[in-house]
Amino acid sequence: MTKHVVFFSGGIGSWAAAKRVVERHGTANTVLLFTDTRMEDEDLYRFIDEAAANIGAPLVKIAEGRTPWEVFFDRRFLGNSQIDPCSETLKRKMADRWLKANCDPADTVCYVGIDWTEEHRIIRLAPRKLPWIYEAPMCDPPYVDKRQMLAWLKNAGIKPPRLYEMGFAHNNCGGFCVKAGQGHFANLLRTLPCRYLYHEQKEQELRAFLGKNVSILKDLTLKALREKIEAKGQIDMFEIGGCGCFVDFDAEAA
Ligand code: SF4
Repeated sequence: MTKHVVFFSGGIGSWAAAKRVVERHGTANTVLLFTDTRMEDEDLYRFIDEAAANIGAPLVKIAEGRTPWEVFFDRRFLGNSQIDPCSETLKRKMADRWLKANCDPADTVCYVGIDWTEEHRIIRLAPRKLPWIYEAPMCDPPYVDKRQMLAWLKNAGIKPPRLYEMGFAHNNCGGFCVKAGQGHFANLLRTLPCRYLYHEQKEQELRAFLGKNVSILKDLTLKALREKIEAKGQIDMFEIGGCGCFVDFDAEAA
């Protein structure tokens, strides 16, 4: 009997994907796999428990144990929009390890929360993951966008993860992401200033530790971005960036 493994990230897309998987295949051989970065928003844990109960399949929670910042210090490399040692180590390798230990590629299908607006990602991902079969149910018709998925979630009686209501594009790493852009970090500063200052401080510590002029954002530290915002300077609010912890590829950090 085919096993169905949904990468259940805490995002709306993975909940919707899981809904489609159990509609098509039932819950008996479906598993929801959550990989914890130990830096998640507190409301994510409430959400994944409620969302998994709504889907009706078992939720498996795994964690490597380190946070993204601990990975950056250990690897002596600050993640950025191009290279993400955090998700490589804490998400993709953990999920690969779990799959190898618990499933057989001959009778397993893995599902990601990519939707039709980013179909190119599953087109690039699927061949690289062979012999494991990767599918993205939200790329199939009927086509629904994120707003419709959130309405679907509310109709199911589940409160959306609070980060969406705070204006974040995803529910990963507590509103932080090394792939995020200026607009995303400006929202983090506006909505969760203490959390922003924590990441600003960690970036400064890593720069001192490495003795290098590195930054998450292109040509701008989080400290410089905050100072620019506070001085009412112009920043690129449309630079949001994109996070795809499960759908990007491993690249060697320098
Ligand atoms: S959400 Fe961003 S910072 Fe967090 S693990 Fe994924 S790529 Fe890294």
